[in-house]
Amino acid sequence: MNSNVRVRFAPSPTGYLHIGGARTALYNYIFAQQKRNAGSEDAGKFILRIEDTDAARSSDESLRLMMNDLKWLGLNWDEGPDFVTLKDHGDYAPYRQSDRKDIYQKYAQELLQSGKAYYCFLTDEELEQQRKDLTAQKKPPHVISPYADWPLEKSLAHKNAGNRAVVRFKTQHLKKDYILQDLIRGEVKFPSDMVGDFVLLRSEGMPVYNFCCVIDDGLMKISHVFRAEEHLSNTLRQMMIYESLGWKIPEFGHMSLILDEDRQKLSKRKGAVACGQFAEEGYLPEAVINFMALLGWSHPDGKEIFSLQELIEKFSTERLNLSGAVFDRVKFQWMNAQYLRALSGEELLKRCKPFMKDLKIPDDANWQVRAFEFLKTSMETLADVKKVFAVFDDAKFSVEEAAVETLKLPESKKVIQAWLEFIKTQKDFLTTEQFVQSQENIKNSCGVKGKSLFMPLRIAITGQLHGSDLKPLVPFFSVSSLLERAEKVLAQT
Ligand code: GLU
Repeated sequence: MNSNVRVRFAPSPTGYLHIGGARTALYNYIFAQQKRNAGSEDAGKFILRIEDTDAARSSDESLRLMMNDLKWLGLNWDEGPDFVTLKDHGDYAPYRQSDRKDIYQKYAQELLQSGKAYYCFLTDEELEQQRKDLTAQKKPPHVISPYADWPLEKSLAHKNAGNRAVVRFKTQHLKKDYILQDLIRGEVKFPSDMVGDFVLLRSEGMPVYNFCCVIDDGLMKISHVFRAEEHLSNTLRQMMIYESLGWKIPEFGHMSLILDEDRQKLSKRKGAVACGQFAEEGYLPEAVINFMALLGWSHPDGKEIFSLQELIEKFSTERLNLSGAVFDRVKFQWMNAQYLRALSGEELLKRCKPFMKDLKIPDDANWQVRAFEFLKTSMETLADVKKVFAVFDDAKFSVEEAAVETLKLPESKKVIQAWLEFIKTQKDFLTTEQFVQSQENIKNSCGVKGKSLFMPLRIAITGQLHGSDLKPLVPFFSVSSLLERAEKVLAQT
């Protein structure tokens, strides 16, 4: 028996990677990393399994998107489809359920042979009628199949005669409580009659989720399953299947829901919920990881900023929360800003590159790195680069409406004229000292000070009445840009 910790993330590739799915992947990943190489070299494996039995809704395109997001987050898997080729790697391949149909058939046959499952020939109409009758009698709408006790030979003959059958799992005789020691929810008791005889294989031979999940988790030697709370109701069926096969049941931890600020289930109508969207909006993967980790887990000291490595060191299943976790978008942005500001100018420039298309700023790496160092405190997401650097784009330069009146004052014209004369004598870039000196000179030569001096200068440089301190900002404008701007502004005085 393999007692190594092996966990899996098992998405259905039918769309994008939702923040809920990403959090599931993260908790499983962290748990695996904590057990990495513990006891054996094979311990602590994180497996990516693809639940694509719904052929109509599954696609490679979605699989690629999801894998891309996992990679972006740094949640690399040890076994599963290869990121580039999609080919399986790992000892328990195939990892795609669509490639495992023979395996499910085999185990369905085993359960049919052992009498734990049976062919059921009830038609949809019959099932519907039964459901209505049971509901009218206020009984649970569990299927009561007249075929449950047919000998297998009889069922096979009936099936071979062209009658459509599903394979159903027998539950009626179980009559006991199934006790789950959930790693998050503690003891959960499921009376067996919570469910009726349920389908394992549909009539066209397609296996259902609960069946595939058990067969795969069992064969792939999954030791722990952290998954969304919404799967708790599936766990009883899965426990029954494990028992019928004589397989060891993995440890389960059912994680609380992620809620919107109004405590409803997280909805895309209220903002981004897809990992890829966070990337597009300029969130950093480190911040997304950190933020997701706190959606359902907390550190005993209330500490909030963790790198993935620190999470691996500090995370514990005992501190996973039972109640729903609220996705606080303001806090998420705050956290992103913390990570962003901690980056060097060089690194930030690298990360911002995809957001800098069409941005007109000096094509000089040195200038750009320094500008990022200076302006990063005004940024919360990488996408803010557009807004924050727009001030340097000469083509976008104009005098804002609110500043026009100030320009009309006679002192303003004097100040801007003097500034323009000074700029004409300069070249390349000004230093802060040169700028400060020029202000002093203009003050003396024009006889203006305070607001009457600073306001027109600011307008001549940024086109705006207000904004960040000019002293550190001015050295980022080329003299030719300052000149062009001052001329434009002077024409409006
Ligand atoms: N494919 C299922 C899902 O995406 C996996 C459930 C499980 O982890 O067992 O929700």
